[in-house]
Amino acid sequence: MSYLVQKFGGTSVGDLERIENVAGIIASEVRKNNKVIAIVSAMSGETNRLVEQVKQTSPVYDGREYDVIVSTGENITAGLLAIKLQDLGIPARSWMGWQIPIITTSMHSNARILEIKTENIEKKFVEGMKVAIVSGFQGISKENRISTLGRGGSDTTAVAISAAFNAKRCDIFTDVEGIFTTDPRIVKNARKLDKISYEEMLELASMGAKVLHTRSVELAMRYDVNLQVLSSFREKIGTLVCREDKMLESRMISGVASSKDEAKVTLSGVLDKPGIAAAIFGPLSESGINVDMIIQNVSENETTDITFSCPMSQVSAAEAAIHKASKKKEISFKACVIDTEVAKVSIVGIGMRSHAGIAKKMFESLAHENINILVISTSEIKISILVEQKYMELAVQVLHDAFELDKV
Ligand code: ASP
Ligand code: MG
Repeated sequence: MSYLVQKFGGTSVGDLERIENVAGIIASEVRKNNKVIAIVSAMSGETNRLVEQVKQTSPVYDGREYDVIVSTGENITAGLLAIKLQDLGIPARSWMGWQIPIITTSMHSNARILEIKTENIEKKFVEGMKVAIVSGFQGISKENRISTLGRGGSDTTAVAISAAFNAKRCDIFTDVEGIFTTDPRIVKNARKLDKISYEEMLELASMGAKVLHTRSVELAMRYDVNLQVLSSFREKIGTLVCREDKMLESRMISGVASSKDEAKVTLSGVLDKPGIAAAIFGPLSESGINVDMIIQNVSENETTDITFSCPMSQVSAAEAAIHKASKKKEISFKACVIDTEVAKVSIVGIGMRSHAGIAKKMFESLAHENINILVISTSEIKISILVEQKYMELAVQVLHDAFELDKV
C-alpha cells in the first residue's frame, strides 16, 4: 500500500455537491488500496471573503491574526469532506496544519515550510484510518502560532506532503483539464499538454500561468514529485509535470504566458558611472521589490536611462525606495516615469537550448502585427517581453500561431 496525495482546489470543493463528487474520487482510490492524503482548499470565494473581512476591520493588521482568520476556510472543507467520506463508510479524519504538524517559518501570510512530521498521520493509518484530509496552505510557526503559506499555497502543501510521505503521485485537481499551451480564454485553439518539464512549468507559473503555485513546482522539482494536474469536473487524463528526461521529445516552445500584473519604471538622466546600477537596485532589493526585467540604454553626455519592471502591487514601494535613495544622494536622475499600462508576454520551452532563431521568429511575428516591444529579457529557456497592455491578447495569439502550438 502506498501513499497517494490528491489536492482539491477551491472550485473543486465549491459547494456540498462538489464535495460529494470529491469524496467519490477519493473513495475510488481507497478501493484501489491507496492510502490517500487529501489536501483541500477553502470553498471558492471563501478565502477572499475572509481577507476582505480582515481588511475591513482594520487597514493595518497583525499578520498573526490575519493567518488565524484566513486559514479557517480550509478547515471547514476538511471537516465536511471527512463527514462525507465517513458517510460512505470510509474511515477519514481531518488534520489541521498544527495537528500534523507542518512547521513553518514565522513570516506570517507568506510562511515557508521547514518540516513536516509524518508519525502522527502514519500511526492513524496503521490504526485503520483510510483517508487523511489536510487543510491546505496552513502550518504552525516555531512560536506555536498558526501560519499560512501565501495565496494559492495549498498546491505547495500538497507537494510538500507528497515529498514527506514519499507518495507515488500527487494529483492536483482543479477546474481546468491540465496545463495548456496558453490561456484558453485568450487563444481558442490552446492545446492541453500531456507532459511538461518542471523547469518549463516553473517558468510558466512564475510568468503568470495561474494553475500552480510557483513554490509548489520548485518543491516538486527538488524532490522529484510525480505531479499531475487534472480536472475534478471531467474524467480525463491531465498533464504530467515531470523531469525533462521523461519527455520523449522536446518541443521548441511549450507555452506562452502572459500577465497584466506588471509595471515599467524608467529612470531617465541617470549619471552613467561605475556603481550606479548597484546604487539603484540595492535600495530596491532592501525594500523587497521583485525586479524582473532590466534594461540600460547607451549613454549620451554621460547620462543614461535605466528601465526595469516589477509587480504592479510593488510599484509604489519601488517609487518610494527610489526617491528615498535620491534624497540620500545615493542616486541622481532627471525623472522617474511609471507605466502601468503594460503586459508581459513570455514564451517558454526547453527546446530553446538546442534551437537557434527562436528570438528572431518571436520578434518578427510581433513586428508583422506592428506590436512594439518595450523591454526584452531572456533566460536559458524563456524569452519575455513587455508590450502595451492593449496588445497583450494579440501578442499571445500571434506567438501561439507562429510557433504552431496548437499542433502536437
Ligand atoms: N485558499 C487559499 C487561497 O485561496 C489557498 C489555496 O486555495 O491554495 O489562496
Ligand atoms: Mg490554486
